[in-house]
Amino acid sequence: MNRIEMTTPLVEMDGDEMTRILWKYIKDELLLPYIDLKTEYYDLGLVHRNETDDQVTIDSANAAKKYGVAVKCATITPNADRVKEYHLKNMYKSPNGTIRAILDGTVFRAPIQVKGIEPCVRNWKKPITIARHAYGDVYKASEMVIPKPGKVELVYTAEDGTETRVPVHEFKGPGVVQGQHNLNQSIESFARSCFNYALDTRQDLWFSSKDTISKQYDHTFKDIFSEIYEKEYESRFKEAGITYFYTLIDDAVARVMKSEGGFIWACKNYDGDVMSDMVSSACGSLAMMTSVLVSPAGIYEYEAAHGTVMRHYYKHLAGEETSTNSVATIFAWTGALRKRGELDGLADLVRFADLLEKACIDTIESGKMTKDLALITNLENPVVLNSLDFIKAVRSTLDTLL
Ligand code: NAP
Ligand code: MG
Repeated sequence: MNRIEMTTPLVEMDGDEMTRILWKYIKDELLLPYIDLKTEYYDLGLVHRNETDDQVTIDSANAAKKYGVAVKCATITPNADRVKEYHLKNMYKSPNGTIRAILDGTVFRAPIQVKGIEPCVRNWKKPITIARHAYGDVYKASEMVIPKPGKVELVYTAEDGTETRVPVHEFKGPGVVQGQHNLNQSIESFARSCFNYALDTRQDLWFSSKDTISKQYDHTFKDIFSEIYEKEYESRFKEAGITYFYTLIDDAVARVMKSEGGFIWACKNYDGDVMSDMVSSACGSLAMMTSVLVSPAGIYEYEAAHGTVMRHYYKHLAGEETSTNSVATIFAWTGALRKRGELDGLADLVRFADLLEKACIDTIESGKMTKDLALITNLENPVVLNSLDFIKAVRSTLDTLL
């Protein structure tokens, strides 16, 4: 069989633990036999990050900037235990954080829905994609415990020394206070990433905040979105037959519950954190969530939403059988290959990505799945496969489809 040709390399970011094992299985069974795979390989496994003082992570993000499309395996974010376990020179930052800081992107997460694993919300027929603004607000806040009566003010000192003061509260007793900020530039990037991704995936875009209560802070988000939409995107949205719609967060929550899904919900940092956990648990499994970082400049980095599945890795090392779900990692590859195919005009590659996704879904819907899904499916007598056998089952479905 002739393998599908590629013209531009994908940036391949390898990772850690169980997902690193799956990564190799996926390449060997589902990609290399069918595609003349061109990648520029970066090993983001913790051992190599340590050898390079984490330079490899920076290099991989710069390569993503150069080529435009990357696919990433889950990686360990080191904590004190990991520093000991891997004899690390430093407690390196989260690779995702480093890459996001370089690409300035927004993360879009969506569940992979299959028949037999039904969302708890019965009317959700199509996936809901959550776009989370990943800068500022409560995640970069300054806080203070107020021990006894006194006055708290917000003070802004301009570069020329002029001061603007706003009272926060006259404390009559103990309490707490918090200062949050955000940046217009970051909100603008967030808005553009959302509008671009909506056009890209031809889905409606919703954005919500609490502008009725937060008349300056949240209202600025609302205004920036609406200004950029009117200036740069309105006509393109009309052409694509999709809509942009702003609503109060309370109203958005109520509408989401009653909706059929199939749209993008852009959320402020905290709302996105909480709502993406809600959507993923309502859809059954973290192992069925895709994640893509989209930069305002149009760079795409695809990955699974879950981590390195450490518990399964230690079983694997002990020689025990594992049944780890590879679907989200396979979808990271198909997302990246499809995007590469679209950018380079390679119809065969786009078709292959579509069929590989269909092969995963058909395999699960035929009753063959990993243990995490077998525990929650309403299909009768599911066949539980181990990590490699599930991938082989997908391969055999793929061969029939091809
Ligand atoms: P995790 O890897 O997401 O796994 C947590 C648990 O969820 C697993 O023990 C497993 O439950 C279940 N699970 C997750 N993915 C699964 C899959 N594909 N198939 C089957 N079950 C799955 O989180 P963690 O174990 O807390 O974190 C491990 C490492 O991942 C950490 O070092 C963390 O820093 C890193 N991490 C990386 C990323 C990223 O790179 N994007 C994201 C999050 C975490 P059972 O054990 O009950 O089967
Ligand atoms: Mg969360």
